[in-house]
Amino acid sequence: MATPDKTIAFIGLGVMGYPMALNLRKGLDKSHTILICDVSSDALERFQKDAEGHGPVEVIKNGYDAVQKADAVITMLPDSKVVKIVYLDSQTGILAGAHQAFTNASGAEKKGKLIMECGTIETSTILEVAKAVETSSVSQHLTFVDAPVSGGPMGAQDGTLAFMAGASNKEIWPTVKGYLSHMGNPSSIFLCGDIGSGTAFKVINNYLSAITSLAASEALNIGAKMGLNLELLTDVINVSGGQCWVTSKSNPVPGIQKNVPSSRDYEGGFRIELCAKVLGMGSQLAEMVGARTILDKPTLEAFGEAMHDDRYKGKDARVVYKWLNESKRE
Ligand code: NAD
Repeated sequence: MATPDKTIAFIGLGVMGYPMALNLRKGLDKSHTILICDVSSDALERFQKDAEGHGPVEVIKNGYDAVQKADAVITMLPDSKVVKIVYLDSQTGILAGAHQAFTNASGAEKKGKLIMECGTIETSTILEVAKAVETSSVSQHLTFVDAPVSGGPMGAQDGTLAFMAGASNKEIWPTVKGYLSHMGNPSSIFLCGDIGSGTAFKVINNYLSAITSLAASEALNIGAKMGLNLELLTDVINVSGGQCWVTSKSNPVPGIQKNVPSSRDYEGGFRIELCAKVLGMGSQLAEMVGARTILDKPTLEAFGEAMHDDRYKGKDARVVYKWLNESKRE
């Protein structure tokens, strides 16, 4: 049986979590044990097969078991509701498990534990979990970190994700970075500030890129309706004041750039539904901190209209260009 300091638990083996946990297993030496947990038995079975030969893997039931057996628990969960269950449920949650583990432990066994959520979760939920940890009887033994990612499923598979982390206890950072380096590009792993700041950085970046996706699409569509040369227009924008990531790296007009979603019928990018979800989180964050915003609401309305139309739903968010181009001006 592996000791807790050589054991890492990973909860949530979905589109992102599965390849992240597999890269972690492959990156750590075989003296480490990986504990895996998911509500999908299929994911657990597949993982055990895929990890064969890379070191020990064991299945656990929930967050309660995870934190008892491991000194590091990494979670990659879909939303706030699941995060609250996995961390805060009084029977099966991580916090309850930590309470049990530290209540029974002797002095030498009271080593600190790291618990870290890597999904894109509302800041208010991250802060709620942080508060629960801080006000619990085991707060001095537990460090909660938020470390959302950028890079999507391809980045998760290639182990090249960017991480934006928030940790109030800075001493834990080398340990955190060590684990994240197996799943991401070491030069793109940032400590952004105290707990909650990783999520805020992630959401603020996505807020901006969602709005610039619509803004760039509107501008280019004016050019399209006037019959201008859009390739030349893009070149001029990209050396002028309108230049942004969308115009230069993921142009929304099909055929202007190779190997971008718009040039393959908007497939294989950042889905408009996810883009709208994170923009909504940015909007909530603005409300929470009292920051005045103008552009979030009309952008969310535009995304909402496009993603309810079969022609655009499920596509890369830059499909708003196509939606504008095929819509009538009211
Ligand atoms: P997903 O739905 O594919 O994976 C979530 C996993 O959690 C599933 O395997 C599910 O079975 C499991 N799960 C649900 N409830 C559980 C519970 N109570 N206990 C244990 N496991 C449970 O989602 P995903 O696409 O992997 O995204 C995960 C997180 O990463 C989300 O917060 C998302 O916003 C964020 N994210 C996703 C992408 C992307 O492109 N998919 C990119 C960046 C960030």
